[in-house]
Amino acid sequence: MRTFALRIAALAALFCGQPFQPEALAWHDKTHLSVAEAAGFELWYSAAAPDVAKSKEMFEPFEKPNHFFNNTANKPVTPDMVMKQAGSYNKPCDEEGHIYGAIIGSVREYQTASKTGKYANYPLVFCAHYCGDLSMPLHNTTYDDFNKERHSVNDGIIENSVRGNIAKIQSMMTPPVIQSEADLVKEIAAIAESARLLGLKMRQENRNMTPEEAYTQVARSASLLKAILAWSEKPTAVVTK
Ligand SMILES: [Zn+2]
Repeated sequence: MRTFALRIAALAALFCGQPFQPEALAWHDKTHLSVAEAAGFELWYSAAAPDVAKSKEMFEPFEKPNHFFNNTANKPVTPDMVMKQAGSYNKPCDEEGHIYGAIIGSVREYQTASKTGKYANYPLVFCAHYCGDLSMPLHNTTYDDFNKERHSVNDGIIENSVRGNIAKIQSMMTPPVIQSEADLVKEIAAIAESARLLGLKMRQENRNMTPEEAYTQVARSASLLKAILAWSEKPTAVVTK
């Protein structure tokens, strides 16, 4: 097993050929759990697990680019741009990242697994996490000095209040209807673009997100996840908070 792990690590280093960018985090754990719980995902308590997987050195080159898209060219996010990432899920060492493709890829994995009768909930755990990261402004804008300096504090803007505010997130949710991959792609583009524009505004005004802006963003993530769950015909847990 150890030999296998070393081989994967060596392979990843070979693929990358250069050191990876410094740690880019994500919404902190409780924020991720709350997005998934507000959406009614039965495995909401696992929604931070993809960050745990990412922290393991041997998995990092493959998992990390699934959590962001730096949009270095600062282009408006369109369905075409989202679709271009569709084949990139788990592609190692992609420094610009491919979170849009990761959402599509994890949904496809779920669909394939459920069709063949396999346990399909774990791909949805990854999907729930990526839906969370999707609304984070600094996961949708270039990894510049502003992003590096302010990333962690913005990841944690609502971390201390969010577990008591599931109902607040739910009251702000407007889940779209998703009935096809094209619908999914359109919704991913819309949320990513809202996050990109907020990221630009934060830079122009040289400030962090406000808690209300953060709640608006995570409600968008929860809405998307709820729509994906409905499309996937997953039984959703009743939230009693
Ligand atoms: Zn993440």
